[in-house]
Parts: sequence; structure tokens; C-alpha cells
Amino acid sequence: FLSISHLEKSFGANRVVKDFNLPIEKGEFVSLLGPSGCGKTTVLRIVAGFESPSSGSVTIDGQDVTGLRPNDRNIGMVFQAYALFPNLTVAQNVAFGLKVKGVAKAEAEARVAEMLRLIGLPDLGGRYPYQLSGGQQQRVALARALAVRPRVLLLDEPLSALDAKIRVSLRSEIREIQRELGITTVFVTHDQEEALSMSDRVVVMNGGIAEQVGTPFEVYNRPTTRFVATFVGTLN
Ligand code: ATP
Repeated sequence: FLSISHLEKSFGANRVVKDFNLPIEKGEFVSLLGPSGCGKTTVLRIVAGFESPSSGSVTIDGQDVTGLRPNDRNIGMVFQAYALFPNLTVAQNVAFGLKVKGVAKAEAEARVAEMLRLIGLPDLGGRYPYQLSGGQQQRVALARALAVRPRVLLLDEPLSALDAKIRVSLRSEIREIQRELGITTVFVTHDQEEALSMSDRVVVMNGGIAEQVGTPFEVYNRPTTRFVATFVGTLN
């Protein structure tokens, strides 16, 4: 459904993504896991269209989107933190993309209510972001990304700015919402536990290369390289 083929990206002489290949099934939840600087955010930004690849291609549902602008890709994205518009209410934040797309007011209102229910905050539409906890803010960011019914959801370390307890409960909440919508999702994290507990498949990245791609069970129990064994924590 989402296919990343022979992706290469260099910044000057620095090759940060090297022949990266990843076919993703419709409805699959795939994590890109690796240490800081391994290129996972760069891959995600290329899929989103914020960065163009040096070579290679990205295909969504059979459509080559490599040359398309981010807004023409129909992708939803949630970042690490602080991405809500502070001067808009929760409902206005969630409605933002719908307005841009010209969705009619009644339909937009219904969609906002549906999204707020989905994230478990049906009564907080009138609040402003500063009146919410960090976890609630990230759920609103998720609702805003999903409101436009994107084909693909991209999550860039969406939990890393939160307290440990909230982080753990949001893992399963995000997964439940993702399953309910059946939306194809790519999740970037440097946290092994997060990737292993949430994903259908995990891509372990090292120095711009996909070192191993497999189910959490495979990556944890049958690491194919010493780097994977060390990074996922079975070898110390
Ligand atoms: P982190 O979790 O720290 O963001 P990452 O695995 O997501 O790490 P990237 O952000 O993809 O890694 O960065 C990979 C490499 O590319 C790093 O060495 C980084 O310095 C470099 N890089 C990323 N963006 C740019 C840019 N716009 N210009 C130059 N170098 C960049």
C-alpha cells in the first residue's frame, strides 16, 4: 500500500539514507527504530514530502507521490510536541485541515465531534491547548491529523516529550485508534520498548541502513546483526 523504494538521501557529502526499501501493507503499523542520527526522521520527512530524496521513490496506493507537495499527498502527521495552534480552541485545531480543504461547516462539525470522541475527549472542544495536559495535547494533534481522513499516518516521536506513565498509556490508545480506523501508520522512535510493544513490524535502522525488518518477536528473539541485538537490548 505504501512503498518506499531504493531511497537515498545525502546532505552535502553526508549520506544519511542508503538504499532504503520498505513495502508496507494497508492497515499495518510499522516502526522505524534506531539511535539518534540514524536517518529515521529523514525517511519520514521524505514520505511526508517535506524533504525530497536524492534518488528513489515513494508510492501510496499505486500512486507515485515522490514529486508531489506535502498537501497533495493526503498524509496525516503528528510531531514530537507543541504543534497545536495556541490561539485556536481544540475544536478549531481539529477542524483546521477540514477548513483548508473546504469541507462544508456541518460536515466539519460532525467530523470534529467524531474525532474528539475517538480520542476520548468529547467535552474539551472549547478549551485552548494551554488548558490541556501534554498527553491530551498529543491526542488532539492526532485527532487533527486524522480529521482529514488521510491515507497514511506518520508519527514522529509523538510520545517522547511526555511523562513515563502517560507515555505507556498512550501507546495502547494510539494503537487502538489506529486499528479502529485501519490506517496505515509509520512510527518513528528511538525507544525499543515503544517499538516492540506497538508495532506489527519494526525496522531497525543504523547509519541510514535498514539493518533488520521483522515482527517485534523476530527482531527481539532472532536479531540478524550484532547491532540489532545490542540495540534491542538482548545483548549488552
Ligand atoms: P533524531 O532522533 O536525533 O532526529 P534521526 O535518526 O531521526 O535522529 P535524522 O534526523 O534523520 O536522524 O538525521 C540523520 C542525519 O542527517 C543526521 O546526521 C543529521 O545531522 C542529518 N541531517 C538531517 N537533516 C538535515 C538537514 N536539513 N541538513 C543537513 N543535515 C541534516
